[in-house]
Amino acid sequence: MPTVFELIRDGQIPSRKIYEDEKVFAILDVNPRAKGHTLVISKEVYPTVSDAPNDVLARMMEVVAKVDKKMRESLKADGTNVIINNSPASGQEVPHLHIHVIPRFEGDGISFFPPVTEYKENEADEYLEKLKI
Ligand code: AMP
Repeated sequence: MPTVFELIRDGQIPSRKIYEDEKVFAILDVNPRAKGHTLVISKEVYPTVSDAPNDVLARMMEVVAKVDKKMRESLKADGTNVIINNSPASGQEVPHLHIHVIPRFEGDGISFFPPVTEYKENEADEYLEKLKI
């Protein structure tokens, strides 16, 4: 079954598109977490960030930077949050790689980050060893 973003890509359902090239397109999120909330989406379907090739990832981040710049210029945003949800455990609803770009304003009261947690003794070093690339 095609993802909702494939249907949008193929013009089978409408969207508000702000950008398109041969690898990537960007649309307004239909359920904005802030007005102007944009999704930068790969044209090919990759379920998560680790499934996508580097050229697509690079292009997606180039477009994210353009969107960030445009939000600062046109919306007078003071900043943005750039978020990728990978797999349902992270809250990903659409299994088709996309990057959320959410405009932020001083004092807007939005909070995306989970609360701080703590490592037990020596645990941070264990994580360091597990995560070294
Ligand atoms: P995620 O939870 O990271 O998979 O986010 C999926 C996002 O896609 C959500 O923020 C939805 O609001 C958005 N979305 C779902 N359907 C559409 C649609 N037809 N047009 C625009 N955005 C959509």
